[in-house]
Amino acid sequence: MLILNSFISAIYPLNCKCCQISLVKGEQHFCLNCEVNFGEVEAIHREEVYQLFWGKANIEEVFIAFQFFKHEHLQNLIHTFKYRKDQLLAIHLGKVLGGVIKQPVFDVISFVPMHKSKERKRGFNQAELIAKGLGEALGMPVLSLLKRTNSTSSQTEKGVFDRFVNMENKFEILTMENSYKHVLLVDDVITTGATLVACAKVLEQLKLKVSIACLAYRGLH
Ligand SMILES: [Zn+2]
Repeated sequence: MLILNSFISAIYPLNCKCCQISLVKGEQHFCLNCEVNFGEVEAIHREEVYQLFWGKANIEEVFIAFQFFKHEHLQNLIHTFKYRKDQLLAIHLGKVLGGVIKQPVFDVISFVPMHKSKERKRGFNQAELIAKGLGEALGMPVLSLLKRTNSTSSQTEKGVFDRFVNMENKFEILTMENSYKHVLLVDDVITTGATLVACAKVLEQLKLKVSIACLAYRGLH
C-alpha cells in the first residue's frame, strides 16, 4: 500500500489544499508557507467577530484560524472538506485551529450539531470532525452536548435578522450530566453568528461559560 501511495504521488504530486502549489516531503495537506500564516487574523476582524455576539450571548473568547479576506483559496478549502467529504482534512484543520489556541481557558470541547437526517446524508458532521482534531491537539475531551430540535430551513437566502429568528429554539441539551465549567464551541465558518448565539444560549442553561472556535470568519460581504 505504501509503495502504491508513493507511486501515485509520484505521478500525481499532492498540492497544498490552500494555495495549490506542490507539496514537498514532510508536508501534509498544506505547504509550510500556508501553515505559518494560519492564525494571523488581524485584530480588527477579531473585534468584528466579538461584536456579532454583543447583547446576544455571553462569549468569553473567540478563536479563528483563517481570514477569508486575505485567503481567497479558503473558499476552495472549506468546500473540499464539506462537499468532497475529505474527513481527514477536517480533522487536520481542527489541529491547525488547536495551534492557534495558546492558552486554553476552557476545560471541554463541543460542536454545533447537524440535523440527524442531514448528517446521515453527508456521512459526517464537519464541526464534530474539527472539534475532534482540536481535542487531539489540545489533549481535551470532546463531548456532544447539543442536538437540533427540528430541521432548519437554509440560512443562505436570509437576511441577518431573519437568520437569528430562524435559529431560535433550534437546539436543545443532549445531556445534563456535566462536570465542566467552560466549553469551547466549535463550528466551521462564522457568517452572522446566529447559529453560535442559539447554541451558546442553550449551553448557558448548563451553567457553562462559552468560548468559540471557528476555522474562518466570512461575514456577509
Ligand atoms: Zn500553500
